[in-house]
Amino acid sequence: MQRVAVLGATGSIGASALDVLTRHPDRLRASVLAAGSQVDALLALCRTYRPAHAVIADEALYVRLRDGLQEAGLPTQAHAGMPALDTLAGSDACDTVVAAIVGAAGLSSTLAAARAGKRLLLANKESLVLAGELLMAAAREGGATIIPIDSEHNAIFQCLAGCNDTATLSRITLTASGGPFRGRSRDELAQVTPAQAVAHPKWSMGPKISVDSATLMNKGLEVIEAHHLFGVPSERIRVLVHPQSLVHSIVDFIDGSSLAQLGLPDMRTALAVGLGWPQRIESGVGALDLLSEGGRLEFEAPDLDAFPSLALAFRALEAGGTAPAVLNAANETAVSAFLQGRIGFLSIPDIVTATLNTVPMQPADSLDTLLAADVRARALASALIDSPASAHKLART
Ligand code: NAD
Ligand code: MG
Repeated sequence: MQRVAVLGATGSIGASALDVLTRHPDRLRASVLAAGSQVDALLALCRTYRPAHAVIADEALYVRLRDGLQEAGLPTQAHAGMPALDTLAGSDACDTVVAAIVGAAGLSSTLAAARAGKRLLLANKESLVLAGELLMAAAREGGATIIPIDSEHNAIFQCLAGCNDTATLSRITLTASGGPFRGRSRDELAQVTPAQAVAHPKWSMGPKISVDSATLMNKGLEVIEAHHLFGVPSERIRVLVHPQSLVHSIVDFIDGSSLAQLGLPDMRTALAVGLGWPQRIESGVGALDLLSEGGRLEFEAPDLDAFPSLALAFRALEAGGTAPAVLNAANETAVSAFLQGRIGFLSIPDIVTATLNTVPMQPADSLDTLLAADVRARALASALIDSPASAHKLART
């Protein structure tokens, strides 16, 4: 029996992970469920899955969680706070950790799982962007197996199965749906609303990654993610817009072979790969029928004028050091402000550019350095949110 900790259980990836778990009661069991602040949703999941442990990151909600578990007569032990989350992620309570917390908030529990040598189903791409070298080193030293839970990287992981020499890999092509605003010019993006930005044409996801998909920052974060996961330099990673979202990524090898992974856009496939690997297990996702999907697979270059965030991420990866951490922190801050209706859509890349232009880059020699860069970038981005004109000006310096 594989005991699985689902961190971010109340989110979109959390729900997909639990859906796959439920299909395999003979081999998979949810032993730890964790959420940020949605205590009622977490309690509802505990009633269904009866985990050994439940964690709410927001400590103010501990009593509600504990009492709710007691009232339901559940054997589940209640915990609160990030340190408790980190301890459980690295403990004997689980063999596998689904890292599905959104944002940099997921870093410490992801690192704890890596250090403890867990099977790490890594959806929390921000932790790789913020501290990719450290996280990959922690996984190597701890003996953890990382299985990416991002459709593109999961596709590459599958294409690389049986290939233990990544020097034979000549290029990675990450596919992108193009998001809800594909085909619009920069000017046409000025007035788009949060509701329009989160209405993704192909994937149903949490609000933050949906906005990132609309700006193409999601693909930028994925370029950095691919660099760390597969050890490929930025010049050998490219992005192609593929509106059908059926080809999840392509790997070119030095012998002229290109391998791609295809499937319907449903994250349960990636989660089933992660939970069952090296075996294939049922995910609940149907087989792809290219004819009924329209019989067409199209590819086009991304529009970097309308969606400058993708180029910004390449710039941060090439600069190295703390630059990706600064990019990520500024982006999280700007996206949150956009979702709250405090800034317009085009201010997101302005704020990220201005922050990257202003916060000095340092070598990423320790976690403390990276976290200090994260804090500094968030402070500057927050100040720029209150002054979009300065953000616009600083972005052009
Ligand atoms: P979501 O917003 O639906 O869910 C986020 C989860 O994180 C929730 O359970 C929430 O309670 C929890 N959380 C938030 N802040 C927390 C904190 N401080 N401490 C503990 N828990 C906290 O997000 P999502 O769409 O499921 O995405 C989760 C991660 O997976 C992101 O990093 C995203 O980029 C990545 N991802 C998602 C998809 C997708 O299809 N949704 C695809 C690829 C990668
Ligand atoms: Mg993806």
